[in-house]
Amino acid sequence: MIRLARDLTRDDVLAIANDKGAKPFQARALVEAIFDKGLRSLERATFLPKDVRAALESELALAASRIVDRSVSSDGTVKFLHELSDGETIESVLIPDGDRTTLCVSSQVGCPVACVFCASGLAGVRRNLTSAEIVDQFLFAREHLEAEGQRDTDQRGRRLTNVVVMGLGEPMLNLDNVEAALRMISRDLEFSPRRITISTSGYPDRVVALAARALPWNLAISLHAADSRLRKDLVPTATKEPRELVAAARAWFESTGREPTFEIVLLRGQNDRLADADALIALLRGQACTVNLLPWNPVAGVEPWIATPTDEVVQRFAERLESGGIKTTWRRRRGADRDAACGQLRLRHVHSRSESY
Ligand code: SF4
Repeated sequence: MIRLARDLTRDDVLAIANDKGAKPFQARALVEAIFDKGLRSLERATFLPKDVRAALESELALAASRIVDRSVSSDGTVKFLHELSDGETIESVLIPDGDRTTLCVSSQVGCPVACVFCASGLAGVRRNLTSAEIVDQFLFAREHLEAEGQRDTDQRGRRLTNVVVMGLGEPMLNLDNVEAALRMISRDLEFSPRRITISTSGYPDRVVALAARALPWNLAISLHAADSRLRKDLVPTATKEPRELVAAARAWFESTGREPTFEIVLLRGQNDRLADADALIALLRGQACTVNLLPWNPVAGVEPWIATPTDEVVQRFAERLESGGIKTTWRRRRGADRDAACGQLRLRHVHSRSESY
């Protein structure tokens, strides 16, 4: 059986390499190349004899996925559809924005949270990603940017600056693998942990437990509404009250000293009214946090009453929050022209496969 190298320990890989005929110094070089440098292909392990590489290929895989589709938006946002070794698919998204390039990674195949406005939730969850499958999205993005830089002089020097665990899935439901992956990315692959954010749709108990361990990453909580009934309409699986999420965010700030972000996906006529902004001000008053407004990206297949607010409405909402003392950020929609919403590229792929069966 072929196993993903990054789902094994360094000692496991060392033993396999020795077993396949690598000399001790070659086996050590392989472990270093995989875990510390992010090697994704045995072909590139040219420091190993050819026969050793061939023998290793029957047992070890370095890349956890291959890209089977991509979509590029006019603003430069690139979405990748990764096919995993069992044929399941996930997405990662690269978002260039000035000097910043943010990678949005998935933590599960699909998502069980079923937010009414999201493509990822439409087909439910299939399984958790392994830590190697999460790290692989990071490594692939890094390789992609490097290759783009060689191909296109305008892109030269563009590097990943931020990683958010905000793609398909709920990271709090796959915390062990997410943590192992982020540790690998920040410690072994030397990506600044301060530029990594875990985004959750809820799970205050897990946020509090995470806070107690003083991990170096940032936290974002998808709040969407201050009113409990309205939030439940938007996130039907939610069992916790907005005030419980705010309390967990406070515990996070008190333990880590880092301000959490509350994400609000704004939907026209649903949670974008000034009264909704006022309810947020009342809920978040005195809380060390930033609110990030995300005007909804259209996605096929969701309820017909879900629509995108105009920029003017979002601006007015942001100003109301600011005037109530809440730090607020928002950006015009990105990648809105092609399969831009989270999970949409995967959904299109899943549909086209099921239609052809
Ligand atoms: S918005 Fe996030 S939490 Fe909600 S269904 Fe989509 S992936 Fe899951």
